[in-house]
Amino acid sequence: MDGVDVLVIGAGLVGCAAACRLVQAGARVEILEAARPNAGASGANAGSLHFQLERRFLENGEALADQAASILGLNLLAIEEWRGLADELGPGIRVHMRGGLMVAETADEVAILERKVAREVQGGLASRMIDGDAARALAPGLSETVVAASHLEAEGHADPKALTLA
Ligand SMILES: Cc1cc2nc3c(=O)[nH]c(=O)nc-3n(C[C@H](O)[C@H](O)[C@H](O)COP(=O)(O)OP(=O)(O)OC[C@H]3O[C@@H](n4cnc5c(N)ncnc54)[C@H](O)[C@@H]3O)c2cc1C
Repeated sequence: MDGVDVLVIGAGLVGCAAACRLVQAGARVEILEAARPNAGASGANAGSLHFQLERRFLENGEALADQAASILGLNLLAIEEWRGLADELGPGIRVHMRGGLMVAETADEVAILERKVAREVQGGLASRMIDGDAARALAPGLSETVVAASHLEAEGHADPKALTLA
């Protein structure tokens, strides 16, 4: 491949984002795609911008929880990048960062979320515990069985059909 510094295999979100940043840094980049851009998971996912630690990583021992928490530094960088992405790529990617909830219905689940939030706060993430009524005020469709939730204002949604192409 004459005249190419970096060959990216796969035009999903990861390949296109890497190619985009490499070009901005001055590299000559070519992307090879077997089907069509955004044909894979990147164009078919739920579009959630989720930065809280996944609860399952808190439910299976401290070693796994420590390992999961090591991603928090990357999550902080990602939040900053997502905040500026609509300015960079245009409003068509439909990024909305209006907050995300993880809910608890039992005392055991509340305890797991409290441990999760403690780790997140230690790692610099601005998550917090709220009670069931406060969660329902944010998301009125939530059941009365929800007794507490962890809330992170920086979470939200983007359009998976538009993002990779942008
Ligand atoms: C059901 C579901 C829901 C999800 N929900 C979310 C969510 O809400 N939020 C979130 O952040 N993430 C979510 N994800 C995860 C997210 O979609 C993936 O982590 C992300 O899209 C991976 O991007 P990618 O570029 O690595 O892979 P892909 O989007 O799969 O792209 C890979 C590309 O490589 C091409 N390719 C493969 N092999 C070759 C080859 N040999 N030569 C050339 N091209 C090749 C494929 O055709 C494809 O276009 C979800 C995933 C799924 C499946």
